Amino acid sequence: MTPPNRFTQARLDMVTNQLEPRGINDPYVLQAMRDVPRHHFMPERYHRFSYHDRPLPIGHNQTISQPYIVAFMIQSLELQEPKNAIILEIGTGFGYQAAILSRVVKHVYTVERIEILAENAKENLHQLNYLNVSIKMGDGSYGWYEHAPFDGIVVAAAAPEVPNPLLAQLKPNASLIVPIGEHGRQYLLKYTAVEDDFHQETLSHVAFVPLIGEYGWAENY
Ligand code: SAM
Repeated sequence: MTPPNRFTQARLDMVTNQLEPRGINDPYVLQAMRDVPRHHFMPERYHRFSYHDRPLPIGHNQTISQPYIVAFMIQSLELQEPKNAIILEIGTGFGYQAAILSRVVKHVYTVERIEILAENAKENLHQLNYLNVSIKMGDGSYGWYEHAPFDGIVVAAAAPEVPNPLLAQLKPNASLIVPIGEHGRQYLLKYTAVEDDFHQETLSHVAFVPLIGEYGWAENY
């Protein structure tokens, strides 16, 4: 097993070499990226790659997201009062982005469609005592109506078009960050609720796994 101080240094290097040079400058996001042990959110056999600039497999054809993308999506929410913010994440995986969010905002609601991943995420977050995260197993393309509206929504899987229930669960001036497009050819889009409409902005090219569900792709996509 790799000694913990090696992980700590690798994490600091990740922030200095991968995040800051690409424009991540939100102090809360940077601190969370320094603090949260990414290796805790992946199978042990990948630990030696845990602070590399890439997604990694977590089983069930799913991945833990690239550190930069996690930081970029959260920073792109442009939260005015992060410590009072309630955020919805769709696609929990093993819980890494939820963990980062939990260090930045007041409470995180997150939905995962694969039961074993949701259970792993619960355990991972609990072990680190990150208690301001609620996890639900189900189709996150519906959002989480009971806890809406949200100060921001991030979707960690790509949809064919923007899921309308998620737009409907934004507070005024809040944003939804969502990858839209086909396998391997997606844009990361930002929708902000402005008066009776949504302002749309394209943030970057991305490659996410598909969002499978009612407002996503079919199961056999
Ligand atoms: N957020 C994770 C992290 O921080 O590493 C990454 C998650 S992975 C890129 C995307 C996740 O979305 C997968 O675990 C997948 O099972 C999940 N997913 C796909 N469609 C979903 C849906 N309709 N509702 C909830 N989760 C979904």
